[in-house]
Amino acid sequence: MLPADGRFGSGPSKVRPESVRSLADHAVDYMGTSHRQIAVQFMVAGLRNGLSELFSAPDGYEIILGNGGATGFWDCATFGLIEQRSHHLSFGEFGSKFVKATRTAPHLDEPSVAESDTGTHPALAVVDGVDAYCYPHNETSTGVMIDPVRVDDTDAVMLVDATSGAGGLLFDPAATDVYYFSPQKALASDGGLWIAMISPIAVQRIERIHATGRWCPASLDLKIALDNSRKDQTYNTPALSTIFITAKTVEWFNENGGLPWAAGRSARSAAHLYGWAEQSEVASPYVRIESQRSPVVGTIDLDDSVDADIVTKVLRANGIVDTGGYRKLGRNQLRIGMFPAVDPDDVLALTACVDYVIEHLA
Ligand SMILES: *Cc1c(COP(=O)(O)O)cnc(C)c1O
Repeated sequence: MLPADGRFGSGPSKVRPESVRSLADHAVDYMGTSHRQIAVQFMVAGLRNGLSELFSAPDGYEIILGNGGATGFWDCATFGLIEQRSHHLSFGEFGSKFVKATRTAPHLDEPSVAESDTGTHPALAVVDGVDAYCYPHNETSTGVMIDPVRVDDTDAVMLVDATSGAGGLLFDPAATDVYYFSPQKALASDGGLWIAMISPIAVQRIERIHATGRWCPASLDLKIALDNSRKDQTYNTPALSTIFITAKTVEWFNENGGLPWAAGRSARSAAHLYGWAEQSEVASPYVRIESQRSPVVGTIDLDDSVDADIVTKVLRANGIVDTGGYRKLGRNQLRIGMFPAVDPDDVLALTACVDYVIEHLA
C-alpha cells in the first residue's frame, strides 16, 4: 500500500529520478565544464526560455538568475529593488523573514507590515508612501496561498516570493513585477539558485537605484545579475546540476501542457488530501478558508488523541519522509508537499497509509 515514491517534503522536495538519470547521461559533456562556454550557456538559455513559456511571460518580461536562493534574493531586493520603504504581507515564517531583511537594512525606512491570524492571509491593499509590495505566493510554513493581484499604485513594484508556488500554482503574471523563487520546491530541483521573472518596470527600478550609486555588494547586485543573465550566465559560478535539473522539470511541464498541466497535478493531489481530511474523524485542514488553502503544501491538523510526531516517525520508518509540520508553527500537524512532481496517486496511497498507522496506533 506504500506510495511508489515516499518523498512528501515541502522543500527540498521530490526530485524526479528521470532528471537525475538525465544528468548522469551528461556527466562528461556538461558537468565540470565552464559556465562561460556554450554547453552551460545553452542550458541556461533553455531554462530562461522555458520559464518564459511556462509562465506566459508578458511582453518585455525577462528571466534573470543568480546564486543564493530566495533568501539571497531578499538581500538583493533590499539593495536593488526597494527604493525607500516596502509594504509586506507577513503571515508565516518566510514572509516574516523578508520583513526582517528590510527592517534591519540601514538605508531603508521602517517597513509597513500587515499581519493576520495564523492560517489566513491579510488583505493586499494600497499603502501610502511605499514603493514595493512584498508577499509570498504560497506561505510554505502554513500552507496558506494568496492569488497575486496588482494594487492601484503606479509607482510601486509588486514583489512575489513564489519559492513554493512557481510551477505549481496558476497566476496572472501581469499582476507581478518580480516573481522570484528557488527551484527546490515546485520545480523539483536542487537549491542554491534564485530565479526571477521581472517586468520592464522592475528593470527600470533596478537601473534607477543602480544609477544613484547606492553601495551594494557585487554578489547581491541586481544590475550585475541582469547583465549576466542576458548573456545566459551568472555573475559567479552556479551549481550546474541545479540549473540542469530545473531545466529538465520545466521541459517536462512544457511538453505536457505547461502550467495548467503542472498546476493541475497539484490541484488533483490537493482535492484528494483535503477531501480525505474533511471526512476523517481525526484529521482536518488547518487552513479554514478554502480559497486560501494551498494546492502545493497541505497542512493537516490531527486530533489530540493522535500524536503527529509518532505518525511521522512511523511513516519515516516505512520510507515515507518529511511529512512533519513546520516546527515553529508548533501544531499537532502533518504538512504534505504536493508539488507537480509528486504523483497524485502517491498522495492517495499516503492518506491510506496515514489511516492505517492511526488505526494501528489506537
Ligand atoms: C523555502 C522558502 C524560502 C527560502 O528558500 P531558500 O532557497 O532556502 O533561500 C523563501 N520563501 C519561501 C516562500 C519558501 O518556501
